[in-house]
Amino acid sequence: MKKGIVYNGKEIKKNDTFIVNIVDMTTEGEGVAKLDGYTLFVKDALVGDCAKVSIMKTKKNYGYARLLEIMTPSPYRVEPACSVARKCGGCQLQHCSYAHQLVYKQDKILNCLMRIGGFAEIPMEPIMGMEEPFYYRNKAQFPVGKNKDGEIITGFYAGRTHDIIDTSHCAIQAKGNDKLLQLVKEYMTECKVEPYCEKTHTGLVRHILTRVGFSTKEIMVCLIINGNEIPNPQVLVEKLKSISGMTSICLNINKERTNRILGDKGKTLWGKDYIEDYIGNIKYQISPLSFYQVNPIQTTRLYETALEYADLDGDEIVWDLYCGIGTISLFLAQKAKQVYGVEIVSQAIEDAKQNAVINGISNAEFFVGAAEEVLPKKYEESKGTMAADVIVVDPPRKGCHMALLDTIVKMNPKKVVYVSCDPATLARDLKYLCENGYELKRVRGCDMFPNSFHVETVCLLTRIK
Ligand code: SAH
Repeated sequence: MKKGIVYNGKEIKKNDTFIVNIVDMTTEGEGVAKLDGYTLFVKDALVGDCAKVSIMKTKKNYGYARLLEIMTPSPYRVEPACSVARKCGGCQLQHCSYAHQLVYKQDKILNCLMRIGGFAEIPMEPIMGMEEPFYYRNKAQFPVGKNKDGEIITGFYAGRTHDIIDTSHCAIQAKGNDKLLQLVKEYMTECKVEPYCEKTHTGLVRHILTRVGFSTKEIMVCLIINGNEIPNPQVLVEKLKSISGMTSICLNINKERTNRILGDKGKTLWGKDYIEDYIGNIKYQISPLSFYQVNPIQTTRLYETALEYADLDGDEIVWDLYCGIGTISLFLAQKAKQVYGVEIVSQAIEDAKQNAVINGISNAEFFVGAAEEVLPKKYEESKGTMAADVIVVDPPRKGCHMALLDTIVKMNPKKVVYVSCDPATLARDLKYLCENGYELKRVRGCDMFPNSFHVETVCLLTRIK
């Protein structure tokens, strides 16, 4: 017979309750408790809490429990800013003071560098937090649906589901969305426009996308629809264009049965088909489909740090790998001789080229393709003569491909600036680079997503002479 998990002489079963101390936090922001040696993960619990929990699921070495009641709150516990914080899938750490969120994120980077990277001494600089860790996002995508009474609702998905939590207010989105949502709902009610229903694949309005340029104050509202057009568009336009800053009112067409929010085609109803915004001195055109960092305040700090670490004096050849729409490339081009960007999404490269043009930058060139293919190929074609002074990488969570790291080592740049959104893969890649001629000189966290468990890190590696 399969033997279960035993605690205090009794088998632990689903729905059993325990009073536990939360002794640690996982990298995804869940609380960790121990029953003897047995580890329990408790969502919404905070290190320092003493809590009553009920068992949800047990595995051989660990289990999951639900937070039922806080017996003694952690000294770091605060009242969440949103009334729906626990239900909503957006934020995981709103119940933790911001000061402690920063400590948690700094420790997460340090732990990964020590445990995975094997670094003993880490040249860690203080994490860059926000003065105001709320209302920082410049982009929101609100699903549209109906409640039990048949009223139109907009809000966010509850964690791990597609149930819409009816809320027009979100504490991390730019202020002003409440009014925009209200106007769209008014239009839908007046013109009898149905929200989309995922189950039956009927109805019209799926999502409302809003974007705002933090420096320009320009606003975009885009309705994502299961159809080619909306009835009485002028009614919607009349309502929305009265909002100060309104620059673009548009439709995005998505008739697929899919979890993907945006379709490939769009249509402008009023105004321009993009808004503009700045990061530092660089201007970007942002359309509904463009990738653009969602926290422009922290993005500026992150890129300034990358630029400071690169320490350019104008003569350098720089490669920016995983360049997206060329955000970092254009930032660095202001101080370098020549920048080359590589990115796998061709539309992003089109945007990068366009952004270079609108900023009058002529020393940045962009290539479409996988960084681990483009760079090794170009290096081989040059018979090993292709050189770089600085290589910047900003990969997705899975980190850099080995073929890319190998080519970086062969190209032997003086500096590598690594921008990372996952400290674990960062640590793995730094270990490799430091075993192959580099030294970790500077490390700095940047909190791009306050109230979530995510953290960005910038590192400087220099070639050992
Ligand atoms: N540096 C940019 C984007 C970073 S996000 C910015 O700050 O805005 C990581 C980028 O890597 C994404 O744009 C993604 O499309 C791209 N990407 C993912 N895998 C890639 C690969 N194998 N080669 C090149 N780019 C890749």
